[in-house]
Amino acid sequence: MVFCSKCGKKNSPDNIYCSECDFILMKNEYFNLDKLESFNEIVNEDNLKVLEENPLSEMEYAIILKNIARMAREYLDELSDEFKSRSTLGKIKMIALSYADVTYKSKGSELGSYSYNRIEIDDRLNDCDLISTIIHELTHHLFNEIFEQMLMYIWEVEKSDALEAYVSFTLGINPVLVLANEYCAHTVEGRFIPYGYQNYGSFNNLISESFDLKKDSEIIYFALKLGNSIAYDIIRILEGFVTSQVRHDIKEVFKNDYAKAPDYDAILLESEEMFSTEEKLNHMHVILMSGISIAGEDINSREIFKVFEEGYHKSNN
Ligand SMILES: [Zn+2]
Ligand SMILES: [Zn+2]
Repeated sequence: MVFCSKCGKKNSPDNIYCSECDFILMKNEYFNLDKLESFNEIVNEDNLKVLEENPLSEMEYAIILKNIARMAREYLDELSDEFKSRSTLGKIKMIALSYADVTYKSKGSELGSYSYNRIEIDDRLNDCDLISTIIHELTHHLFNEIFEQMLMYIWEVEKSDALEAYVSFTLGINPVLVLANEYCAHTVEGRFIPYGYQNYGSFNNLISESFDLKKDSEIIYFALKLGNSIAYDIIRILEGFVTSQVRHDIKEVFKNDYAKAPDYDAILLESEEMFSTEEKLNHMHVILMSGISIAGEDINSREIFKVFEEGYHKSNN
């Protein structure tokens, strides 16, 4: 016997949809895959239907954010003595390490990058730039993580390389979402560093590379608003670890090793514009579904997906 989670009617376990209201039945046998491990297991009509019919409630979304915060909380609680003894940069690095790998590079002009659960930063940077870069790249990770956890919740599946690949595909294939992700990362970074050191460099670069400021102004505005709305959630998560004491210490680091004077131009790019939680969840829901439609239509998507999947496979194993 399976109870419909929408109308409560008892259904035969053979039913996939509720005989009363047609809602999809959340029974375990239906989700016989507790891990989705390939393109085909993810990109199909059944999954799209489950997704379509199960938008997350605000409460469910709050649970997901709490779970994401808990991942770091558990890690940091276990190492709390070490955390206390670390420098400010060391603390920020430990927070990042509770979610992703942190590796150093010594070449190239990028300050840092994020891919496949790995944050890469340039070891030639000084502490204050390392701090802001780690927070920036960690935000890219958490942005993906939120979407991934939503899918895990809706599909009732565990994390897998293929699922991570799907999220990267979905968020990476659409330049508007790439822009939103970038805005989000700059906003979260800006929250934790002193006033006047905010920098929207890669957001501005993306706009000049892929958008027309006039023609695309509406879509840019959407990306900014979405990025800002998700930044709000990520800031709440990180404030649990980057406490007011740590934020105070970050200011000291900037005072000590930043020769450059603050510059107040970039702060003008900060925005108060946000979606309500309900609007935000609607947009995120559509985004999650869009990946399946795009992947199903575009023959190149299988190849792109494969590249992502291999990337995750290498980095997760
Ligand atoms: Zn029902
Ligand atoms: Zn970025």
